[in-house]
Amino acid sequence: MQYEKVKPPENGEKIRYENGKLIVPDNPIIPYFEGDGIGKDVVPAAIKVLDAAAEKIGKEVVWFKVYAGEDAYKLYGNYLPEDTLNAIREFRVALKGPLTTPVGGGFRSLNVTIRQVLDLYANVRPVYYLKGVPSPIKHPEKVNFVIFRENTEDVYAGIEWPRGSEEALKLIKFLRKEFGVTIREDSGIGIKPISEFATKRLVRMAIKYAIENGRESVTLVHKGNIMKYTEGAFRDWGYEVAKQEFGDYCITENELWDKYGGERPEGKIVVKDRIADNMFQQILTRTDEYDVIALPNLNGDYLSDAAAALVGGLGIAPGSNIGDGIGVFEPVHGSAPKYAGQNKVNPTAEILTGALMFEYIGWKGASEMIKRAVEMTISSGIVTYDIHRHMGGTKVGTREFAEAVVENLQSL
Ligand code: NAP
Repeated sequence: MQYEKVKPPENGEKIRYENGKLIVPDNPIIPYFEGDGIGKDVVPAAIKVLDAAAEKIGKEVVWFKVYAGEDAYKLYGNYLPEDTLNAIREFRVALKGPLTTPVGGGFRSLNVTIRQVLDLYANVRPVYYLKGVPSPIKHPEKVNFVIFRENTEDVYAGIEWPRGSEEALKLIKFLRKEFGVTIREDSGIGIKPISEFATKRLVRMAIKYAIENGRESVTLVHKGNIMKYTEGAFRDWGYEVAKQEFGDYCITENELWDKYGGERPEGKIVVKDRIADNMFQQILTRTDEYDVIALPNLNGDYLSDAAAALVGGLGIAPGSNIGDGIGVFEPVHGSAPKYAGQNKVNPTAEILTGALMFEYIGWKGASEMIKRAVEMTISSGIVTYDIHRHMGGTKVGTREFAEAVVENLQSL
């Protein structure tokens, strides 16, 4: 691969992808970028923790610094240079910080572009409780979801035209003439495509994950009562994948009751579906009935933040964007510009994102140690401002929090 302004490290080896599996050396080269705003605070803090955890299991990450966002603009005159995309393509697994996107005008979201260009079709977000973290619900320990949100279609397809534009007016006219559909002339028009192909590959990934990780259920969340051929089809195609490709592993919720009297047979995964609005109350009222959750893009966007709020909020929530043999790992939170460079925000989301990345490359021991060390740190009362607001304790900065996590990790 040719790079214009960056150079891959000379030591370290590439992660390869063969026969549908990642082959990970003991010293993988992993590209990373800090991104914008608080990315400059949280990414270096997370890397300290990740290095300490890798060392604990006798491995080493060889980091490859690349650029996106403001930094990239300064260096390349481009917010998302080809070098960065090529590095992710070549080395397959990358860690990122948040990137700022203006609302309304300006450029298209860089995050969305990265996901689409690299075909990272699943946004995978585990949502679990860490002991000691304050929560707005009584039983946060019941929260243990892994959310698979479709990443390329629905509102993320980004197909829309402003009110009064030639395209919008043409479409309004066409719809009236051809289909007898009336839309007000002063409407902006957006298109929400949901395909069988994209739905099936997402649900396939969710079910595979459930099988490989001994999970109990996969819930398809949709708004199919209102949008039958997009959201409703998402549900139908999801059930089709479960039945046609994973028939030996999956039963539907109907079968659970009709054939098994409501008792899940050992080793079977129950595939069920819920309407999106109901799902928001279900995760609060019947939390432990949900496990792996698969959703189209917009439902997934809302539900993942709402779920994250149950177990400590955005400062804690890790995430990833996964394609076939390629993964970019990022926290759920954004660049929070008002806190940029203040050594103030919580690096836990970025740290746990790194733990998720380690899990993805098969370093489960290191990943578990990181989670344990974060729990120990928070339980001992060492917290950043966001957690301090809810539970008091010793308020520390981003760097100091990460240092405390490293210390706890080394004691394990
Ligand atoms: P945000 O950056 O996530 O920040 C919203 C609020 O969440 C913050 O004001 C803060 O709340 C809390 N928060 C976020 N990260 C935190 C952390 N590490 N520790 C503690 N608290 C944290 O969301 P936003 O203000 O809506 O978005 C800012 C920019 O980020 C936008 O340009 C947006 O497009 C972009 N964004 C990027 C990504 C991404 O790169 N994947 C994701 C989302 C948003 P308090 O002030 O209440 O403490």
